[in-house]
Amino acid sequence: MLSTMQDVPLTIGRILAHGETFHGRSTVATWDGEKAVASSFAEVGARAAQLANALRDELGVTGDQRVATLMWNNTEHQEAYLAVPSMGAVLHTLNLRLPPQQLAFIINHAADHTIIANCTVLPLLAPLLPKLNPTLRHIVVVGEGDLAPLDGFSGGVHRYEELIADRSTVFPHPTGLDERTAGALCYTSGTTGDPKGVAYSHRSMYLHSMQVLSAESFGLTSADKVLPVVPMFHVNAWGIPYAAFMAGTSLLMPDRFLQPQPLAAMITAEHPTFSAAVPTIWTGLLDELDAHPGAYDTSTLSRVVIGGSACPPALMKAFEDRYGINVIHAWGMTETSPLGSVSHPPAGLGPEETWRYRLTQGRFPASVEPRLIGPDGTALPHDGESAGELEVRGPWIAAAYYGGEGKDAALETLETGEKFSEDGWLRTGDVGTISPDGFLTLTDRAKDVIKSGGEWISSVELENQLMAHPDVLEAAVVAVPDEKWGERPLATVVLRPGTGTGLAELRAFLADRVAHWQLPERWSIVESVPKTSVGKFDKKVIRKSYAEGELD
Ligand code: ADP
Repeated sequence: MLSTMQDVPLTIGRILAHGETFHGRSTVATWDGEKAVASSFAEVGARAAQLANALRDELGVTGDQRVATLMWNNTEHQEAYLAVPSMGAVLHTLNLRLPPQQLAFIINHAADHTIIANCTVLPLLAPLLPKLNPTLRHIVVVGEGDLAPLDGFSGGVHRYEELIADRSTVFPHPTGLDERTAGALCYTSGTTGDPKGVAYSHRSMYLHSMQVLSAESFGLTSADKVLPVVPMFHVNAWGIPYAAFMAGTSLLMPDRFLQPQPLAAMITAEHPTFSAAVPTIWTGLLDELDAHPGAYDTSTLSRVVIGGSACPPALMKAFEDRYGINVIHAWGMTETSPLGSVSHPPAGLGPEETWRYRLTQGRFPASVEPRLIGPDGTALPHDGESAGELEVRGPWIAAAYYGGEGKDAALETLETGEKFSEDGWLRTGDVGTISPDGFLTLTDRAKDVIKSGGEWISSVELENQLMAHPDVLEAAVVAVPDEKWGERPLATVVLRPGTGTGLAELRAFLADRVAHWQLPERWSIVESVPKTSVGKFDKKVIRKSYAEGELD
């Protein structure tokens, strides 16, 4: 029997229409270095329509052409987020911290038709221009700065405000847009090999936004003001821009002011209630707050989601104990839109049990189905003990990578078979356990785990223990080759400035907390841990430095 329900496509255009009307007074504000400049959702919606009209009528964007953004988190980026998919085109968010050759590869692979760029990032874009294919027709610049860096570009160069000025604030959204077509494109940061494109459908983004809003996930409402520190080029800022328009949640965009001091200043001035970012951002912010007691007011910030890499327990506890901020741990990846699991402990537990749950990567929502695969390829029980590679499937999980213009995505799936199982599950490359009540605990990434004499050592566990030492600011542990054991851990540690702690003390501290055979023999005090383009520890670089004799 067919259902009797209406078959209404789930599209980004629907989210835009809802947000700009029913939540027209909610705001998107962008920090300009000193203050936040706010626009209402109604204004943002009107300008998104003007942008869509300009892209179509002036720049000739049609069908599913790609419109890329090379932008910080700001109001104009939110406008592009809404305008581009709503007109039926595909929003391609470019990671402005990628190495230039990767950025050029991505722009060409996606065959971007237009790039919208912040003026402040033109020095990044200009050197790429000779490497870009003629498929790139237009560059639209947001901001007042000099356009001279784009002089060599043979296509059209436009100023955003001039381009959209005087255009209609109504855009006739295409009717009958198939919810399964792509609305946004995001490439993995290419830690191994070339970056790979994940094309999100309208449907996947719509359903993902609803999950982001759920109380068991981020729990956003129209009473919240969210500070998305996670960049809009890092897996759609974890879905916050669309979820916000769905719920009328106001946004406070940090633009390029992502250092601890301006972040603390904007929290103090603008009173966000919720924020999200990778752990390294919060380590820096905590240090800034601790170093200036009483200088900042974080009292409105009640919840913070930390994900992207394992959140050190010491960081979670410090924010909770010293600033009353509830740190919520979450796991996900580009291929999972990214929301995979979020750690809300079950009700009714004592403090110790509650913490045990909070430190996990979280519980899977109904739409993300997990399984653990052991070394022999069989599925392992969800008993909280059996460790295997995590595979997932669901309506916002990638089934393939984007093959490039004119290519068949299914072909690309075959080429990248190691990421997708034969029966269509995404292989995450993450190793861990799942409890009977659906909580994921990751021990490591398969490629980061240290294989020492037949035993596995979790680099994350050693890092977490080290970062619990009060004088340790950051610690990254990697596998290095060892003649006797195959691999052994190398601990690189950043000490808090002015501390007299030495390696002997750190070793003793760790010896009390982990099994003796896991203790690293190799240590290095470093000034900073190298970071990837999205702010995670870059273990590839650490391993290379060690191999080249740059670390002891
Ligand atoms: P990249 O692979 O380039 O880092 P992603 O942002 O897609 O790009 O990273 C996804 C990976 O990040 C996951 O597969 C996992 O290894 C790691 N990750 C994400 N969240 C967590 C978390 N909460 N704990 C541990 N690892 C995490």
